[in-house]
Amino acid sequence: MSYICPLCNGLVVPEQACPHCLQGLSECGKLDDYTGPYSPYELQVSSDMTDETKSICNHLMYCHHCQTSLLLPVSLWDLSGKE
Ligand SMILES: [Zn+2]
Ligand SMILES: [Zn+2]
Repeated sequence: MSYICPLCNGLVVPEQACPHCLQGLSECGKLDDYTGPYSPYELQVSSDMTDETKSICNHLMYCHHCQTSLLLPVSLWDLSGKE
């Protein structure tokens, strides 16, 4: 696979603002990291993520100001055909 997540690879910095207080959100890592035995956040993941999931890397964003967590779907970069 030549799909990479630009966020996982540190190629881009998420510039997502909190929809509630407009403060900058902290990037808390991939959602995959939170599917272990415990889940610190209540997440609402839409169930219609079927074909899209293989080209999307879901990152968890967190606002320290109003304790809001939200999901940021990051489109993967297709590096095939490039060197
Ligand atoms: Zn990622
Ligand atoms: Zn906030």
